[in-house]
Amino acid sequence: MSLRAGIVVTGTEVLTGRVVDRNGPWLSERLTELGVEHAYTLVVADRPDDVRGALRFFADQGCELVLTSGGLGPTEDDLTAQVVADFQGRPMALDAPLEERIWRILENVRVRWPNIDEEALRASNRKQAMVPEGATVLEPIGTAPGLIVPPPEGIAGPTVVVLPGPPRELQPMWRDAAATPELQAALGTATDYELRMLRLFGIPESEIAETLRAARDGGIDIDSLEITTCLRRGEVEVVTRYEPAQAEVYAAFEQAVRDRHADTLFSDDGSVVDDQVADALLAAGETIATAESCTGGMVAARLTDRPGSSAYVRGGIVAYDNAVKTDVAGVDASLIAQHGAVSEEVAAALAAGAISGLGADVGVGVTGIAGPGGGTEEKPVGLVWFAVTHRDGRSVTRSVTIPGGRADVRDRSTTVALHLVRRLLLGTSGIPGR
Ligand code: ATP
Ligand code: MG
Repeated sequence: MSLRAGIVVTGTEVLTGRVVDRNGPWLSERLTELGVEHAYTLVVADRPDDVRGALRFFADQGCELVLTSGGLGPTEDDLTAQVVADFQGRPMALDAPLEERIWRILENVRVRWPNIDEEALRASNRKQAMVPEGATVLEPIGTAPGLIVPPPEGIAGPTVVVLPGPPRELQPMWRDAAATPELQAALGTATDYELRMLRLFGIPESEIAETLRAARDGGIDIDSLEITTCLRRGEVEVVTRYEPAQAEVYAAFEQAVRDRHADTLFSDDGSVVDDQVADALLAAGETIATAESCTGGMVAARLTDRPGSSAYVRGGIVAYDNAVKTDVAGVDASLIAQHGAVSEEVAAALAAGAISGLGADVGVGVTGIAGPGGGTEEKPVGLVWFAVTHRDGRSVTRSVTIPGGRADVRDRSTTVALHLVRRLLLGTSGIPGR
């Protein structure tokens, strides 16, 4: 049996969606890496009863570990430490050396706001230095210390790890927490899991479901693996978690996926298409440039997302207006007149214009109808033409009709463009050499 954990994300701003939760998902990944079964995340407002209710729920579910995020600040509504202390039956006491350490951190605040009310600062300093009896203190990254609070003496229950809300504080503090002997002891019973990910592009999720059925019918005990598939930004991800003893079953399953999807399986090592395009360009010592219409520079933005991309990205033209397509990207006006701005010919001319205009080895042209207006029967909303061309004459063009709204069409277009670049550079849509 593996260790089960729950996460309590506190904050009215997260509950209402004003702030998107970045802590729950991040902690979930860390737990999975450690072989801990993440059972639930509960998001609660800054209300003591609700935080208490969440702790009670996890205890009732038999979770051995609970992580909390938020509510450690100096103000009245920051009450997580007190609620957890009460829940674990551990009275709070002042940790004087900790108070001193926090005071020194607050030095910066006092320097920046010399007129600050020193009494108030002292009071909030003291509040943050109150620690439940028997808890382990995690040193502040900001001003708030975190805590590892064990269950009441002699009573079974979850160990609660209390972490601050700001992700830049929570993340380093979790790493500190995971390294403590207290948490190592609590994690002692966690099972080691293997985690593998396959990524495919250009097939519907239903085909993977069919492959799972075929594997099972073929005698592979896939029920001993924990397989989840998910469609994300036009790619299918197959994530499998298994105990080391099932390694052979997993190998057979992965082989079955390779056999059926050789041309669409593009990643078996966790890499994303962006990594693969960057690596291929670096390996070839080649550069890339874009001329984009409906994506408005989003392909160039994605290509420049990685540090070091100046080694292979020349630049991009946002050729949104037809006059810019002709005057800046070098598209022949007659092509637009004859075939329309959204056409294979114009996509190819944009790619060629990116190469000659920006001095790149590889050019990407994108032109489409992002909607919601502008569609016709012949060229519906969501129709996008792509061209990826190499200076040496190799070229791939493709049209795709992307479902969804304007944002979906534009976002998915960047993924299609990157896969076409990848295919041009590697000569295959699948994993080379298989
Ligand atoms: P502080 O000392 O800053 O008050 P805290 O531990 O009390 O820290 P909160 O008050 O809960 O943390 O949150 C502070 C800020 O951190 C929030 O306003 C928000 O911007 C960010 N934050 C909190 N929780 C999350 C979360 N789950 N995901 C993303 N950001 C968060
Ligand atoms: Mg706060």
